[in-house]
Amino acid sequence: MPHYKIAIVGAGPAGYFTAQALQSAQSEDLIFSIDMFERLPTMWGLVRSGVAPDHPKIKSVSKVFEKIASDPNFRLFGNVEVGKDIDIEEICPRYDAVVMCTGSSIGRKLGIPGEELPGSLSAAEFVPWYNGHPDYVNVKVPLDGDTAVIIGAGNVAMDCARILALNPTELDSTDTALHALAALHASNIRKVYIAGRRGPEHAAFTSPELRELPKLEHTDVVIDATEVHDAHERALAAGEIEKHTAANLEAWRLIAEHPRAGHERSMEFHFLSAPKEIRGNGRVEEVIFGINEIRAGKVVDTGETRSIKTNLVISAIGYHSDYIKGVSFRDGKVENDNGRVLGTNIYTVGWAKRGPSGVIGTNKSDAADVVKLLIEDLDPEPKNGGDITVVIPLSIPIIDQTGWTKINEAEIAAGVVVGKPRIKEVVIPELISLAE
Ligand code: NAP
Repeated sequence: MPHYKIAIVGAGPAGYFTAQALQSAQSEDLIFSIDMFERLPTMWGLVRSGVAPDHPKIKSVSKVFEKIASDPNFRLFGNVEVGKDIDIEEICPRYDAVVMCTGSSIGRKLGIPGEELPGSLSAAEFVPWYNGHPDYVNVKVPLDGDTAVIIGAGNVAMDCARILALNPTELDSTDTALHALAALHASNIRKVYIAGRRGPEHAAFTSPELRELPKLEHTDVVIDATEVHDAHERALAAGEIEKHTAANLEAWRLIAEHPRAGHERSMEFHFLSAPKEIRGNGRVEEVIFGINEIRAGKVVDTGETRSIKTNLVISAIGYHSDYIKGVSFRDGKVENDNGRVLGTNIYTVGWAKRGPSGVIGTNKSDAADVVKLLIEDLDPEPKNGGDITVVIPLSIPIIDQTGWTKINEAEIAAGVVVGKPRIKEVVIPELISLAE
């Protein structure tokens, strides 16, 4: 019975759903052994370090991941970085196929003057900071001013804005990293602006995220009713309104009509505002926006500007993949043809394949599509290329599934006593010792 060995690089949603698709495709004539590599000692990728802590239900998919990992033909190699601890050239000959599920972890740049000033961050730094990613614990997030500006009109921008605009007591019962929670409790930020460069009708927010805004208990959410009305008129004039846009416009109307409670904390949406420049003397002090308008369906710069005084700007305008030695990247993604890396036995799934779009569940169908191609491409005879363990340097403490289970259980146990789902350990040597 053909028994194929598949390597999956990256233990995030794309990685686990790839493993699941392989497991589901098995039959008496087709068996897969799966080795999953992850550079961190912790698993679940964006489910751990991306999903906002006040959205715990989304994280329940981790139970599915752990079920996938409990299969006897699944091995975990955590704390092993492909491209650094082992090369892709050492992996490829040992497996029938290698699936890169390494996501996109680098924030896209605005490309405007002042972007490098202290206090100008990417969501790719801010989000893993509050979520306890070990590499981002020391990110400097200035919370001494009273105003923050978030650039971008997508769900990541919304997550960043909520985390800054909520009363931090609302995060006390979540798994927000302790260093971030302490900083948010001491934060002076009371007003959070979210700036979109086009109109509300073009925003990438999804309507469930918008509909939850009027329910915030300690934060007023502000959008100008005229802006919503104008967006609706423009959408009507442009022809049939798409379902996603109609749902968003309705959500905007409800936000605009929701009475303001006069909370000291607010989140305020500004549209048709394109970032032009970040100014400041040694730190961010001001963001200059160009005011756009929409003429005949096109976004046009009016030449007018608006300034917002702030010490914290977070750009949430998308991501691209980090480079991995031995893998070819193009346009911020692994260079691929529908998931196949042509001329190799490498495949790719998730954000590394298609760019940073879709929700966690999108990776399930993406993985199923790529696994179908992978199976079509398999040689009739498995490769039998030898075990990978011989090439992993002995100095690296590998976190296997048993070790990861110990980390997971220790974090949950630490959380139970203080009424949180878990307390995340954020120091790599500490994580490694929890696994022992
Ligand atoms: P996104 O949905 O693609 O939104 C990016 C935003 O950045 C857009 O509004 C875009 O505006 C804007 N932008 C791009 N370049 C810009 C520039 N130079 N200046 C100003 N604005 C600029 O990306 P994302 O928010 O990073 O989210 C990534 C994916 O994760 C999305 O599919 C999202 O739905 C998903 N996600 C889901 C959840 C959830 O389900 N709760 C939470 C977080 C993330 P234009 O449209 O004008 O280009």
